[in-house]
Amino acid sequence: MRVFFDKKSLRKFLEENRSLGKTVSLVPTMGFLHKGHISLVRRARGMSSIVVVSIFVNPIQFGPNEDLDRYPRDLGSDLRLLDKEGVDVVFCPTVEEMYPEEQLCFVEVKELQDRLCGLFRPGHFRGVCTVVTKLFNIVQPDFAHFGEKDYQQLVILRKMVKDLDFPIKIVPSPIVRDADNLALSSRNSYLTADERKIALNISKELFWIKEKIEEGNYDIKILEESRGRLQEKGIKLDYLKAVSTDNLEEKTDLAPPVAVLLAGWVGKVRLIDNIIVES
Ligand code: AMP
Repeated sequence: MRVFFDKKSLRKFLEENRSLGKTVSLVPTMGFLHKGHISLVRRARGMSSIVVVSIFVNPIQFGPNEDLDRYPRDLGSDLRLLDKEGVDVVFCPTVEEMYPEEQLCFVEVKELQDRLCGLFRPGHFRGVCTVVTKLFNIVQPDFAHFGEKDYQQLVILRKMVKDLDFPIKIVPSPIVRDADNLALSSRNSYLTADERKIALNISKELFWIKEKIEEGNYDIKILEESRGRLQEKGIKLDYLKAVSTDNLEEKTDLAPPVAVLLAGWVGKVRLIDNIIVES
């Protein structure tokens, strides 16, 4: 496994490989890897000759009062995990390498970036789209892998790739959960044992909603019931919404195809989760 800290030598390595006809998959991450990330890596491994995993905690996608400084990091353990998975290349640049001078150019996906998490994290998706564009230009992958865990991000990046004609196929992967159904997230490491118990109500409610939809009950009031129970359990919701799976427009009923997306706080930890019901 090759580890690159700078763009120039990474580009050179990839150019040589591309000239030999090798296909490239990119898995962008912020590190502190778990089985969710590994599922994307395995998907990538199965479909291209070269797998590149980037590890970069991107400062421009964090708001001023967010957890940039305390975001969990463990490069040594990440590299060991990726080596075991047969990853070819890890790109872990410093902030200075990614942003050597003041960044004046940004990528925005209007409307989609302002909904849901965008309302609570202004500038977040602009930061994500900008860093993903930079990674796309550096790596020039054939495939880019993203998790459905960050469903809004996935929809936004799909639109970005379409609107800007990136010759890249976005490959989604389903949410990986712990045995207790908590969606895996690097931020779960912030949770105390008691908070984790509270957090389990998130997937419990989402699964309950899914069950209702699968029984043919599409009444939007179902979400109100869940909101009430989650609040009673001590979860402070940013939102629990049913949206269209392709453009995130809010739905007035739960008829499939539907994405039910949730963001909420357990103590000082912001968690997101969702369920998708296809028609
Ligand atoms: P992050 O390191 O949190 O920025 O995540 C990097 C990638 O892994 C994103 O595409 C996420 O959607 C994906 N990811 C994170 N958690 C999970 C999970 N539990 N299941 C599937 N994919 C995930």
